[in-house]
Amino acid sequence: SKMINLKNVSRIFRTGDIETSALSNVSFTIKQGEFIAIMGPSGCGKSTLLSILGMLDSPSSGTYEFEDADISRHSEKELASIRKASLGFIFQNFNLINELNVSENVELPLQYLKISKKERALRLDKILKRVAIDHRAYHMPHQLSGGQQQRVAIARALIINPKLILADEPTGNLDSKNGEEVMLLLKELNKSGTTVIMVTHSEKEGNFADRVLRMMDGQLIWDRSNDLNTPLV
Ligand code: ADP
Ligand code: ADP
Repeated sequence: SKMINLKNVSRIFRTGDIETSALSNVSFTIKQGEFIAIMGPSGCGKSTLLSILGMLDSPSSGTYEFEDADISRHSEKELASIRKASLGFIFQNFNLINELNVSENVELPLQYLKISKKERALRLDKILKRVAIDHRAYHMPHQLSGGQQQRVAIARALIINPKLILADEPTGNLDSKNGEEVMLLLKELNKSGTTVIMVTHSEKEGNFADRVLRMMDGQLIWDRSNDLNTPLV
């Protein structure tokens, strides 16, 4: 079923007298359960697109429907509540809180949800095992390798059982071995049903996705399923 429907989305940034068209007339739909890679050169609008999909930024024009609701009309409060209940974010720089240990970092998103203490502990235990970081539950972020930190960040994204994972160059700060582990983890999550949208520079990582969206100068220039030889647009 359809999860995301973007219609003619544009995003213009105004800085003094300068206008930058970061996205122009981007349209596509994403079905529940897809694994999408967004690719293209630096500055082409990938992060802007991911921010809009993650409801952290809004289109200047065009519409964004998430699960059939036109969220362009939602208030910031309504958007925040969708984000907290349904979206998981993964970043290039992990974005862990340095003063909190692994378990505390991973549990953080649960404070916004009504969940019993018992359920909280069960979920934490299960999720730390799932990303193979349970042996580091009380370590601080600086005591972990980069790959371990990203697994903690993935656990934090997963603890709410998100409908959609948004990953912005999740392997950008990892060596190839740790990067591949993160990609395999994302692939496994997707196979178990979570929709994944990932920005990447790597063609190899693009191959982990079911479908690649290529951008250039703020426009979608290519939308192709990885098992088809012909472009869809
Ligand atoms: P990418 O992620 O593909 O590198 P971005 O989405 O970050 O591209 O940026 C697309 C364009 O929009 C760039 O020209 C960038 O300079 C501009 N841009 C992005 N964010 C802002 C902002 N907050 N203010 C002004 N211009 C911005
Ligand atoms: P990797 O080989 O996966 O990149 P590292 O070489 O960074 O990992 O670390 C190897 C092991 O040592 C990891 O299990 C990590 O938890 C542990 N470790 C790394 N740095 C520290 C530290 N400053 N304090 C405690 N343990 C650490």
